[in-house]
Amino acid sequence: MYKYTQVSDFKYVLSLDNHVEICSAIAAFCEEMDIYAGSVSGIGAINEATFRFLDPATKQYVDKTFNEQMEITNLTGNFSQKPDEPMSPYLHIHITASRRDYTCVGGHLLSARVNGACELIVEDFYDAVLERVFDPETGLNLYKL
Ligand code: FE
Repeated sequence: MYKYTQVSDFKYVLSLDNHVEICSAIAAFCEEMDIYAGSVSGIGAINEATFRFLDPATKQYVDKTFNEQMEITNLTGNFSQKPDEPMSPYLHIHITASRRDYTCVGGHLLSARVNGACELIVEDFYDAVLERVFDPETGLNLYKL
């Protein structure tokens, strides 16, 4: 699913295998390395992706799937814990991707399939506990800080 190397105490560089789904690969890496709080950033290329938009007026999610070759111009996300699932990191990832005509689309990342390469940097916040709690006003699971 991926190759990786550790570059400093709590930082890893990953190269995902071609055609893997990015969120599944990140979740698998967190599980393998016992990472429950941290961050991820990256670049790459994809050809099938579903992004999500939250409409704050209705608190409804709107998902859209793109079946075309795109460059990931930015992928940024974090991992934390939901109190009811402390041993399974909660991934929150956003993405911007550029199309053949150089325009960009983006949103909350639900899934994306690598077509070419995907290079990620994962930082492990080690023994930090970062929990989330549901906020009824926004309809979001916010950091409980
Ligand atoms: Fe989001």
